[in-house]
Amino acid sequence: MQDHQTTLPDGYVDTHYARTLSATATAPQLSGDVHADVCIIGGGIAGVSTAWELTQQGVSVALLEAKRIGWGASGRNGGMLTSGFAASSEAILARSGHKDAHALHDLSVEGVEIVLQNTRDLNLAGVDPVKGVIIASRHPDPDGMKAWQAQAKKDYAEDLEYLSPDAMRKLVKSERFFDGIYNPNGYHIHPLNYCRGVAAEIQRAGGLVFENSEMTSMDLDGPQKQVHTDQGTVTCKNVVLCGSGYSGPAFGRLRRNLLPIATYVISTQGLGDRAREIMNTSAAVADTRLSCDYFRITSAGELLWGGGMSAFRKHPANLTDLMKARILEVFPQLADVDIHLAWSGLMSYARHKMPYLVEMQPNVWTATALGGHGLNTGPILGRVLAEAITQTSQRHKLFEPYGLRWNGSFVGPLVADGLVAMSNMMHRRRERG
Ligand SMILES: Cc1cc2nc3c(=O)[nH]c(=O)nc-3n(C[C@H](O)[C@H](O)[C@H](O)COP(=O)(O)OP(=O)(O)OC[C@H]3O[C@@H](n4cnc5c(N)ncnc54)[C@H](O)[C@@H]3O)c2cc1C
Repeated sequence: MQDHQTTLPDGYVDTHYARTLSATATAPQLSGDVHADVCIIGGGIAGVSTAWELTQQGVSVALLEAKRIGWGASGRNGGMLTSGFAASSEAILARSGHKDAHALHDLSVEGVEIVLQNTRDLNLAGVDPVKGVIIASRHPDPDGMKAWQAQAKKDYAEDLEYLSPDAMRKLVKSERFFDGIYNPNGYHIHPLNYCRGVAAEIQRAGGLVFENSEMTSMDLDGPQKQVHTDQGTVTCKNVVLCGSGYSGPAFGRLRRNLLPIATYVISTQGLGDRAREIMNTSAAVADTRLSCDYFRITSAGELLWGGGMSAFRKHPANLTDLMKARILEVFPQLADVDIHLAWSGLMSYARHKMPYLVEMQPNVWTATALGGHGLNTGPILGRVLAEAITQTSQRHKLFEPYGLRWNGSFVGPLVADGLVAMSNMMHRRRERG
């Protein structure tokens, strides 16, 4: 899939995160033949987390990244770190049943904890977790929001705080929002510094990390597998596929089971004191729509704003204008503010919206399809997969009901964009009352 965006000299797409790297070291390119127990393909949060967890279990790894660590969605996203999966808890309950749905929820919470713990224990520079995520309704919905709060308490003992429209507007100074929920267990982070920081720790622990090393083909039959790039080969016992929305034809049949969906982010000029005109909180904010807006003020005082999704429009030519219009709907007072940077990224979804933790054939695994919820699910998928490969737990079996599903070929993107359009229409109707 093409990605027509400005690329910086260091190979990263020009984003707020790429401009605020805490370190700039580049890992070597794979050259010649190397051996490892496990070869992981794709250096986003899924691949990096898998490689890190395996390294912690004493397993030797070779991580191949086609561009730079965190170059894909993992280094370009909204940075919101919360429990849960891209699939709704209702859908998970319906498919997994009560006990396993709970166990899956616990895994998703553990995913958040892994990121916080690694950031703290490994002293990862520039990740800077900031506490708090607010979910804001664009129409009056006291009953819905209170029911959500009660359900989270009953099902998962989660303490969420209900925000009345008055309380909401003290925090987020917009007429667009009404009732809300404050989640004190959610965070926002610098996701690119996180991925790069963990990759550096993998190297320090003796793992092999290769950047600018695109897997071009694989020989996966037999006990010894080979993964090839233009410059070298990894010989290994296990392969883990983590290419997500950037998986090309070399990923074989997995690609036909992934639906790449684009989504967009911008950052403004530094707002200085004007930041307080729009927000009185360091929490991140997201609305309740499927294709929601989400935003926060960065440590440098810029407004970082994400929103919109499409299976067809990978990087709209008028992205800056589209995003500015979304901001002005919420904060008309920012009409004169400049948009500094606009970028897009590809997520990948399975039809059931749950991650693929699947053994496609003996010792060939996928850890991918994290959807719009990768910052916690990538780390927990990595841990559970490492446990499966080292046979130290059976937790991967919780993902068995969520096997590979055909993406629907050209119909898949049509259905995906149709669902987003329908959901937008429904929300607009509610907003009009
Ligand atoms: C704009 C945007 C905003 C988002 N906001 C949030 C958010 O706030 N919170 C949240 O939890 N999630 C968010 N998400 C989703 C989250 O970013 C993704 O779910 C997650 O990053 C996916 O991680 P990944 O490792 O599976 O894939 P990626 O990060 O996309 O990594 C895949 C990697 O594989 C590499 N690759 C592909 N082919 C090859 C090959 N042949 N050889 C070697 N390497 C290869 C690519 O170069 C890429 O680096 C957002 C996503 C986007 C795009």
